[in-house]
Amino acid sequence: MPTINPDGVAAGTRGNAHGVDLNRNFPFRWRPLDGGEYSGTGPLSEPESRAAYRLILREKPDVTIWFHQPFGLVDRPAGNPFAARRISRLIGFPLVRLRGPYPGSASRWQNHHFPQSTAFVVELPRQVSAALVTRSAAAVRSLASELASPAVAAGLATG
Ligand SMILES: [Zn+2]
Repeated sequence: MPTINPDGVAAGTRGNAHGVDLNRNFPFRWRPLDGGEYSGTGPLSEPESRAAYRLILREKPDVTIWFHQPFGLVDRPAGNPFAARRISRLIGFPLVRLRGPYPGSASRWQNHHFPQSTAFVVELPRQVSAALVTRSAAAVRSLASELASPAVAAGLATG
């Protein structure tokens, strides 16, 4: 999916057209937040977050990778770090656990709701070169083909 926030991309804002930070709008540990991380009127108040939520419930992905900016790292997820570690090596970003509480975050909701799967965030740097886009896409494809191998998929299951 190219973006969960097409209106924000078009406007150059973090929030959607309602000013809601969609990554504070998911149902796990949602709480009211104002300002740049305005979390909306309630969990899943926004059509974009509801669409992503429904897609995830329907597809139940084993691995979800959310691309953000601007920190230049892979956020080490709670639970199994196998896929995140592999992506960090393939892209060449450090694997670091971001410490914020991140209420209402999409990936934290997924890891809570689907503990057998993994969702994590790749934080691209502020400036993203074409080479980095190519390398990141290649990393995702490599991980996907590695996970098609039963031996590697066993690593995903055990960490
Ligand atoms: Zn982020």
